Amino acid sequence: GEVGAEITLGQLPLRDDLRGKSPYGAPQLDVPVRLNTNENPFPPPAALVADVAGAVREAARELHRYPDRDAVALRRDLAAYLSTATGVSLTERNVWAANGSNEILQQLLQAFGGPGRSALGFEPSYSMHPIIAGGTRTEWVPAPRRDDFTLDAERAATLVADRAPDVVFLTSPNNPTGGSIPLTDLEMVLRAAPGIVVIDEAYAEFSSQPSAVHLLAEYPGRLVVSRTMSKAFAFAGGRLGYLAAAPAVVDALQLVRLPYHLSALTQAAARAALRHADATLGSVALLAAERERVADALRGMGYEPVPSDANFILFGPFSDAAAAWKSYVEKGVLIRDVGISGRLRVSIGTAEENDTFLQVSKEVRG
Ligand code: PMP
Repeated sequence: GEVGAEITLGQLPLRDDLRGKSPYGAPQLDVPVRLNTNENPFPPPAALVADVAGAVREAARELHRYPDRDAVALRRDLAAYLSTATGVSLTERNVWAANGSNEILQQLLQAFGGPGRSALGFEPSYSMHPIIAGGTRTEWVPAPRRDDFTLDAERAATLVADRAPDVVFLTSPNNPTGGSIPLTDLEMVLRAAPGIVVIDEAYAEFSSQPSAVHLLAEYPGRLVVSRTMSKAFAFAGGRLGYLAAAPAVVDALQLVRLPYHLSALTQAAARAALRHADATLGSVALLAAERERVADALRGMGYEPVPSDANFILFGPFSDAAAAWKSYVEKGVLIRDVGISGRLRVSIGTAEENDTFLQVSKEVRG
């Protein structure tokens, strides 16, 4: 057998708090229609692919040297994009970048959470928030949403004031339920929070609500806005997440980041991809229109889709969501069982993929 196979996980001197835990695991199955991880279904345009390849070729000539540790040029480009997209003027001192927004969130908890500290989030939400809290030994405080999955901002503010967590996570649009949080509601929580408030805006480009970036000037010591190139930018494989915050927050993250965490190849590829932002983001309006088409069609079949501002829809009811998920897979469509009783989540794909999904939805409904 394999070298070392006689040792099991249970026999390793693992931290007690990690024993019995499961890793993050969206199944990566090889089926024809994959609508389970909220990616952009459109591959990058040929001009972007060529530009990334050229930029990586150029960067490869310097691979004997460590990359720019502070990724200044990339952060300048991200700041320019975000300034244009939101109308809020930001510089590279307001922006930090990492390998996906997951790494951004981990660095935030390394700096502002940790042993003896707590992070609060409103569930159901992105499952990595409590997992990253666990990994950084930050106590996780789950808080409720309304039955329709919207955030009761008044109740949230009261709870945040009472529990006084070091970090609050608000996801807008929320994954897996799809709704955005209005700025006035975000402000209620911001005013009540004694610590850092992270607005996870992974799906912001799909939303009709303004970005929380508009609140940065008023709450510079508290607000952090997390974003990613994985969704609207069609760059999930490139692994590039970033945040907007006060420059002091960026200074704080430099205390915990690993030196040279963003490879020269990543920095070059992300900058090239950003130069094609207009082309990539052209898919956003199309995906939003498809989202409404899919939601209407589901409603027509008797399903109840949750109103979404993102590139996915939570829908049901199913008497047995796990069994329904399996029926979809058997018919070649991979969607997501997010652990919410009686419901499943589908990412918006190409029109053709969505048609296949809708056809299977009709069959599953019976
Ligand atoms: N935040 C939310 C709400 C997400 O749904 C995701 C991806 N599923 C992420 C953050 C992390 O994405 P990435 O690390 O690819 O930026």
